[in-house]
Amino acid sequence: MAKIQIPRGTQDIMPGTVELWHYVEAKARDLCRRYNYHEIRTPLFEHTELFQRGVGETTDIVEKEMYSVTNPRSSDELTLRPEGTAGVVRAYVEHKLYGSPNQPVKLYYLGPMFRHERPQAGRYRQFVQFGVEAIGSSDPAIDAEVIAVAIRLYQELGLTGLSVELNSVGTVEDRANHRTHLLAHLNGVRTQLCGDCQSRIDRNPLRVLDCKNEKCRSLTKDAPSILDYLSEESAAHFEAVQKYLTALNIPFTVNPRLVRGLDYYTLTAFEIKMAEIGAVETLCGGGRYNGLVAELGGEDMPGIGFALSIERLLLALEKQGIQLPITSGIDCYLVIQTPEAKDQAFILLDQLRQAGVSAEMDYLDRKMKAQLKAADRLAARYTAIIGETELANGTVVLKEMATGEQRELAASELVNALAASDKK
Ligand code: ATP
Ligand code: MG
Repeated sequence: MAKIQIPRGTQDIMPGTVELWHYVEAKARDLCRRYNYHEIRTPLFEHTELFQRGVGETTDIVEKEMYSVTNPRSSDELTLRPEGTAGVVRAYVEHKLYGSPNQPVKLYYLGPMFRHERPQAGRYRQFVQFGVEAIGSSDPAIDAEVIAVAIRLYQELGLTGLSVELNSVGTVEDRANHRTHLLAHLNGVRTQLCGDCQSRIDRNPLRVLDCKNEKCRSLTKDAPSILDYLSEESAAHFEAVQKYLTALNIPFTVNPRLVRGLDYYTLTAFEIKMAEIGAVETLCGGGRYNGLVAELGGEDMPGIGFALSIERLLLALEKQGIQLPITSGIDCYLVIQTPEAKDQAFILLDQLRQAGVSAEMDYLDRKMKAQLKAADRLAARYTAIIGETELANGTVVLKEMATGEQRELAASELVNALAASDKK
């Protein structure tokens, strides 16, 4: 039979690698505990309309990256979630969290997203995002807090040389004021811009500044900056975010061209980048979305969040040669010399496991030498040998592999001895 291969842009995370994921995910969860963000789990698919409305019709995601299906029996249009914010805000509205006594509502998610993209290093069709959302406060301090959660995650894992790029895309009114001037500039260079940008001019001109194409970038180098069109209030918010970041010792640079790809962003927009990572240098993106909750049918509540993928985080760690402190290996391998010893070992094995000790034995009828090799391969800290003599005496020979130290003890003592050594 022909082999069936994994779909393009997806990956199997195998034992040996999955431990890195566990480590990073545990770090993310622990940060959220310290910063008081609580996990929310929403479905992997939603009504397509949620993303059309919540992410925006003119974004790359909705225009070309969604995996959508129509249920033939109900004509429901469903889409695998390409990002987390829309689903979280839908749930926030659905569960009336605007009425919760704990305000602002601080949530996080960690799970797979799906986008139909051209796969390359750090860009997959299924990838895992970690993201936080703080809904219900307009305080610029919370903007800085959200940025801090992402930065502290990277820092605590040992990454260095990260840069935070910061911008304000203003309010809807600020953007309307800016738009006339921006359009005048863009129409002047219209015919030289890429096809995507030409269509963006009419639909969402700010996004032309976000184009990755070098030619488009240079043609829009002198386009009027949104920062010159911020209202006094928006400018004060932007100033305050910068003040708080400085207070937290988080370096940043203002990049007036930074436009998040999503339509619902207002005021603060940011990305975290790392030079060494290459083509996909962006590790994390986020910003304020003060219009989104109302757009999805809820009360008019302000929000801010970020999303980052674990894939790019791990790629960054690899590029900087950072080894995470992963402990592998089992506590004890039971080496059996006779079939009778096996029956006793099998019971001991279960007792060890119940006592919290990770333990293994042979299931392939291997000779003693091969069992010791197996113990080695599993990086067992101890082996406990049960032979004919030990069985007759009701003992085991316990050997600490690192030191070679060896002692005989009553079989009934083994569990206690290993459970105690585990706590050291
Ligand atoms: P890009 O410009 O790289 O396509 P984006 O603007 O589409 O990024 P966001 O929607 O802001 O990305 O997602 C936030 C983060 O999720 C990104 O900064 C990146 O770390 C990660 N990410 C986005 N798309 C992918 C993907 N296809 N594979 C892996 N990680 C991704
Ligand atoms: Mg993208």
